[in-house]
Amino acid sequence: MAPRTQGSRPLKKRQYDEDDVRVRPGKGSRPRTRIRPAHDDAVEGFVVAVDRGRYTTLVHPEKGSAARRRQEARLVVAMKARELGRKGIVVGDRVALVGDVSGRPDTLARVVRVEPRTSMLRRSADDTDDTDGIERPVVANADQLVIVTALADPPPRPRMIDRILVAAFDADIDPLLCLTKSDLAPPDALVALYEPLGVPHVVVHKGGALDELRDHLRGHVSVLVGHSGVGKSTLVNALVPDANRAVSQVNAVTGRGRHTSTSAVALELPEGGWIIDTPGVRSFGLAHVSVETVLAGFPDLVEGTVHCPKGCTHLGEGCALDAWVADGHAGPARLESLRRLLSSREGAPDEPAT
Ligand code: ZN
Repeated sequence: MAPRTQGSRPLKKRQYDEDDVRVRPGKGSRPRTRIRPAHDDAVEGFVVAVDRGRYTTLVHPEKGSAARRRQEARLVVAMKARELGRKGIVVGDRVALVGDVSGRPDTLARVVRVEPRTSMLRRSADDTDDTDGIERPVVANADQLVIVTALADPPPRPRMIDRILVAAFDADIDPLLCLTKSDLAPPDALVALYEPLGVPHVVVHKGGALDELRDHLRGHVSVLVGHSGVGKSTLVNALVPDANRAVSQVNAVTGRGRHTSTSAVALELPEGGWIIDTPGVRSFGLAHVSVETVLAGFPDLVEGTVHCPKGCTHLGEGCALDAWVADGHAGPARLESLRRLLSSREGAPDEPAT
């Protein structure tokens, strides 16, 4: 909700420098964009899709109830202002827009600022057609990574789940297991596999209630990942009743028939928050993730590694963690989980579980 004082008291163009602007209250504090001298008329946009140098953003009206603002939000296509240089802009970024921000057909606004990010997910280098081996940023500011996995048809792929968990740990994003098709198979085995890691889960099935999942999503920026056939699209459509319309609107403004080159699209939830679907993302980049980063998720094992040989991979021969667990300092399931996550960083192809 917009601060009430704002409309009645015009803000002067004061000369704040960058640092002054940054220490002001964070997300959702509208005055920030107004006091900035260079772009005091900038409006706030949320990047919902990116395609060939065009950024599709959702801009909410400044006034009205949350529901009303969401209803009257408009899509504004923008390009990057020259002053931003080579700085990348990805789905989930909160940006400041100037120029024609009407959202009318064939208009183009300019992104003049990208707000500081709270997180960044990168897609893996082997997930794109590029051969330069660079892991490309794909989603900013997510605080939850929802791993959508069918309990059967297709069978769960623990190796894929492990890789996504590592990406979540690395990006400091909370993981959530969303297990679909519970009418076809029980969740117990898979739940037991991830229990030692403390990963929360929700179980859903076709036509079933989504209340528990909605509770997890409300107010968050959640990235949904999952292979084809797990029911992710069905979920997205159930969570965002007008998802198809929203996506085709995005496609219409970017001049595309389908999402061929886009790897992510953000959809606003009716109950508040965002889900970011990642149809083009098969895996996240883990090449840069160190042993230490993964190990940081296992405080009960970290202490045991002081007796490891230098450069220990903790995967086998000579690793002191076997003795650490044998002595009862940590559970064997935890060590097993750690080793699974560590080895999941290697680039072997993902095989369905048997
Ligand atoms: Zn070790």
